[in-house]
Amino acid sequence: MEVGPIRHLIVVLGDQLDPQSAAFDDIDAAQDLIWMAESADEASQVWSVKPRIAMFFAAMRQFAQGLESCGYRLCYRRIDAPESNEPLDVALANSVRRLSPEAVVYVEPGEWRLRAALREAVRQGGCVVDQREDRHFLCSQAEFAAHTAGRKQLRMEYFYREMRRRHRVLLAADGGPEGGAWNHDASNRKSFGRKGPPAKTEPRAFAPDALTQSALRDVERHFADRPGELAAFDWPVTRSEALLALRDFIEQRLALFGDYQDAMWTDEPWLYHSRLSAALNLKLLNPLEVIAAAEQAYRAGSAPLAAVEGFVRQILGWREYVRGVYWQSMPGYLERNALGATALLPEFFWSGETDMQCLRQTLQQTLRLGYAHHIQRLMVTGLFCLLLGVDPRRVHEWYLAVYVDAVEWVELPNTLGMSQYADGGVMASKPYVASGRYIQRMSNYCSSCRYDPAQSSGERACPYTTLYWDFLLRHESELRSNQRMTMQLRNLDRLDAQARNAIEARSAVLRARWTASAPLKTPLKTPLKSKFS
Ligand code: FAD
Ligand code: SF4
Repeated sequence: MEVGPIRHLIVVLGDQLDPQSAAFDDIDAAQDLIWMAESADEASQVWSVKPRIAMFFAAMRQFAQGLESCGYRLCYRRIDAPESNEPLDVALANSVRRLSPEAVVYVEPGEWRLRAALREAVRQGGCVVDQREDRHFLCSQAEFAAHTAGRKQLRMEYFYREMRRRHRVLLAADGGPEGGAWNHDASNRKSFGRKGPPAKTEPRAFAPDALTQSALRDVERHFADRPGELAAFDWPVTRSEALLALRDFIEQRLALFGDYQDAMWTDEPWLYHSRLSAALNLKLLNPLEVIAAAEQAYRAGSAPLAAVEGFVRQILGWREYVRGVYWQSMPGYLERNALGATALLPEFFWSGETDMQCLRQTLQQTLRLGYAHHIQRLMVTGLFCLLLGVDPRRVHEWYLAVYVDAVEWVELPNTLGMSQYADGGVMASKPYVASGRYIQRMSNYCSSCRYDPAQSSGERACPYTTLYWDFLLRHESELRSNQRMTMQLRNLDRLDAQARNAIEARSAVLRARWTASAPLKTPLKTPLKSKFS
C-alpha cells in the first residue's frame, strides 16, 4: 500500500483488540498507521485447532473493520497474502524498513517469546520502540512483585483478598468482605445428582456474519489438516457481541454458577459457565466491567453471594494471579518438570477416539467447540496426563493448541502448574490427583462407560483409578513430606502387596497401550528465540 510519511506505526496483536488500549492514547489518524497481521507461523507454534485460529482471525478482522470505519489507516495482512508465512517478527521488521515510521508503538505483548521478538524486530528495522503498559489487567507486574516479596509460599487466596480491597469489590460498609467471609465455596461445587442439570436456557449464540465467515473459510483453506470443526462456531468476536454474551450470562446462568461450577454432564458443554474467557483474553471485554456486572446482579438480588463471589474470584483472583506467576517465572517456567514426567501424549487426545467416556466427551467437545470448562480441563484431561506421567511440555503444547481462549500467560501456569504440578508447588499446594470416583461423583459419565471407577485392577478397572494408585506408588517418597497428601497416603498404606502388584501390572498394560505409538503432533520447541538471533 502507498502511504505518506508515518509518525507512529501502531502494532496491534491478535489478543490486543481493545479500543481503550494505551497504544491508541495519542493516535493521529492523519499521521499514524495501524499494523496487524494474520500469521501462519503464530498459528503453528503449536498444532492449533481450527476454532482457535478462527477465533483470532475473525476477531482481528472485525476489530480492523471497526478501526477503518472510524477513519484510521491500516496495514492489515490477511492469511492469504503471499508473505503470510513469514514469522510475525520478520514481517514486522520488513514493514518497519519499508515504511520508515518515526517510532513503532505497541502495548507489551502478553507472551514472553513475543516481547523479546518484537523489540528485536523493530531494532532490526532500524526504528525506535515505544512499548506501553497493558492497562487491561488489574494487577501490574510491579504490584504482583510487591505482593510476593518476602513470601516463602504463594497462595492465591491472600492475593485475592488484596485485590478485593484494592478494587473495592464485594466489600461491606465496614471495609470487610461482603457477607462476612472472603470465600463462599463451602456453599458451592455441588453435583447434579441423578436428575441432571436444572432447566436453563442455552447460552446466546452469535451467527457468523459475512466478515467472520470469510475468516472461517480462510481457516478451512489454509489449515485444512488441523483438527477441529467450524460448523458450530458461534463465539462472540466483536465487543458488542461480547457485551451481549456477558449480559446473557449474568441474566441466565450466574445465579447457578457457584452451585454447579465443578459439575459435568454428558452432552452439556456449557452448563452454567460464562463462555467469556476468549472475549476477555482477546480484550474485547474488560475484567472490571465483567466483575461489576456480577456484583450488580448480587446487589440487585438476582444472584446469590456465593455464586457471585465464586465468579469474581475466578477473574479478580485466579486470572490475575496466574498472569503474575507467568511473568515472575518465565522463561524458566516452561522447562519445569518437578515430577520427572516423560511419557508421550496419547494419540486419542487429537481425535477423542477412546472408550473412556469422560475423556471421550471432553476431548470431542474440545476439538469440536474449542471449549471445555475448568473441571473438564483440570480433572478429566489434565488429571489423566498427570496420572499417566505425560511430559508437561507436551501437555502444555496441547492445551495451548485446542482452546479458543488459549494464550500462554494464562494457559501455562494453569497447565504446567495447577494441573501437572510440574512447578513443584508454586501454583498448587499439592498435586490435584483423584481416582475415577471423583469423576463419578461430579458427572454422569461413568454410568455409560465400560469401566468401573470402584475397581483398580483387572480388565474393567477404571484407568483413572488404576493410575491414581500407581501415581501414589511411584511418587510416594516425594509426597510423604507434603502434609496435604497425608490422607491419600494413609489410604495407600492400607493396600496389601497383592493389591499393589495388581495395580502395577494393570498400569503397565495401560501405559504400553497409550504411550508407545503416540505421534508427535506438536514438535517440541526449544524456548523460542528471535528469528534474527
Ligand atoms: P467460567 O467458568 O465462566 O469462569 C469465568 C472466568 O474466570 C473465565 O472466563 C476466565 O476468564 C476466568 N477463570 C476461571 N478460572 C480461571 C483460571 N484457573 N485461570 C485464569 N482465569 C480463570 N483459561 C483461559 O482463559 N485460557 C487458557 O488457555 C486456559 N487454560 C487452562 C488450562 C488448564 C489445564 C486449566 C485447568 C484451566 C485453564 N484455564 C484457561 C482456566 C479456565 O479453565 C478457563 O478460563 C475457563 O474454563 C473458561 O471458560 P468460561 O469462560 O466459561 O469460564
Ligand atoms: Fe472415566 Fe473411569 Fe468414569 Fe469411565 S469409569 S467415565 S474412564 S472415570
